[in-house]
Amino acid sequence: MSAINEALIRDVVAEVLGRLGQAPVANGAPSPAPSKETCACGGNGHPTASAIGRGKHGVFQDANEACEGAQAGFFQLRQKGVAARAKVVEIVKALADANATEWGRIELEETQIGRLDHKIEKLKIIKLVPGVEWLHPDGRSGDHGITLEEYTPFGVVGAITPSTHSVPTLSGNIVNMVAAGNAVVFNAHPAGAKCAAMAVRAYNQAIARETGIENLITIVEQPTLGSFQAICSHEAVRLLCVTGGPGVVKAAMRAGKRAICAGPGNPPVLVDDTACMKRAAKCIIQGAAYDNNLLCIGEKEVFVLESVADQFMAEMEKAGAVRLNSGQLDRLTKEAFTFKDGQGAGCPEPVVNKALIGKDAAVLAKAAGASVSDKTELLFAETGKDHVFVKEEQMMPFVPIVRVKTVEEGIEASLAAEHNYKHTSIIHSHDVEHMTAMARALDTTLFIKNGPCMAGLGLGGEGYLSYSIATPTGEGVTNPRTFTRVRRCVMVDNLRIY
Ligand code: NAD
Repeated sequence: MSAINEALIRDVVAEVLGRLGQAPVANGAPSPAPSKETCACGGNGHPTASAIGRGKHGVFQDANEACEGAQAGFFQLRQKGVAARAKVVEIVKALADANATEWGRIELEETQIGRLDHKIEKLKIIKLVPGVEWLHPDGRSGDHGITLEEYTPFGVVGAITPSTHSVPTLSGNIVNMVAAGNAVVFNAHPAGAKCAAMAVRAYNQAIARETGIENLITIVEQPTLGSFQAICSHEAVRLLCVTGGPGVVKAAMRAGKRAICAGPGNPPVLVDDTACMKRAAKCIIQGAAYDNNLLCIGEKEVFVLESVADQFMAEMEKAGAVRLNSGQLDRLTKEAFTFKDGQGAGCPEPVVNKALIGKDAAVLAKAAGASVSDKTELLFAETGKDHVFVKEEQMMPFVPIVRVKTVEEGIEASLAAEHNYKHTSIIHSHDVEHMTAMARALDTTLFIKNGPCMAGLGLGGEGYLSYSIATPTGEGVTNPRTFTRVRRCVMVDNLRIY
């Protein structure tokens, strides 16, 4: 039977069974979920067959049904074991790679933010996210026998994804969470929800075809704050993972269940007088221009020692960045931020103009009253350390550059700009005392020395990739172990072989 026919037939069967109120079957095998009759919960914790039947390839209209669908997917994965988890990881990595060009274009068309070349690359590198090989049990052996600590699944993880990397975050989350044995229900950002649902459909079709598991990954087709609340409060959802700004982090922490929060950043960069100016300029352009500065780890403001500031900015220009003069900076600032009166105890609070987030440097230049080549990747201008471009996480291919008199002043200004998000900070220096002082003061999850921001995620530095860097809750760069429960199994006085 061809793959398409098989998928079609599965749809029809699911639809018919859904209407009849029976559980759909996977590859002819009955759903392995324990029955209501045999389970002590009396049916309360079980997905209803009709609800699951209403979703198609994991895409649901209703958040509660999406949670139930994922729970049924989890039961099937549990039966099929680690081999099935490894297969799912392989499928997601292969599909993200094979569809990168098309899915990257679709995501850019939908979200209207970022750059096509990087949207494509962000999908191709999903292969760098760790999978089942990451999970090793810890064993202890002694006079009283053997103890094994195993990294076991939670069940269903509720995951919230950002508009800045909708399909990449979703794909990376699936690899991590399913490698750990979980199913996932997603609430995507409304601005990137269509491409997310498209990827969920494609992943589920391939997963069902290759493993027989249905609805391992589910998603609410039209996400809302209501569907977020429903996922947070559904009893099948045992763990939350949110990737986004301050609002969603606060909301998840109020949800009453464990939340892994990959929150906002505003990464400062310090360039001292021992750094290689050429390398610093090249790295800052590479990181800050990436996907038009949508990365949460991306270089957002630069503090440079006064004694080397002119040399550094000359290297920025040589490497292709374009400098704005003070008049152009003022115009860009007025276009990039609005100041709402009456907020912040009577002081106007800046709000980033969404129309300029993730737009090309040429678009920003136009807004500034300048004209640059379409090939220009990054703009910069000199500002004071309290400038709104320094303080706000603006996600545009523009970096403010601030002269500081001493390294101490640069570290203090970096700390203020980072807002204690404890996300990412960067230094360009060959002085280990400066590096150590900044690392200790900033206390960030990622601290990168002499490289672009992405070196912190295994791209040009040692390490591994994840699109969810858990900052306020402290799990760091998430990996399969992040999504596990540690359980201990103890054999008393036996099985020790010496
Ligand atoms: P966002 O905060 O607007 O949205 C993120 C997600 O949260 C979306 O799914 C959105 O619908 C949801 N959301 C937002 N407010 C909510 C609320 N009050 N209740 C429930 N759900 C809510 O962010 P964005 O613009 O899509 O993404 C950019 C932000 O995400 C930046 O602040 C960036 O630093 C951060 N980010 C962090 C990481 C990380 O790994 N730490 C990764 C990517 C993005």
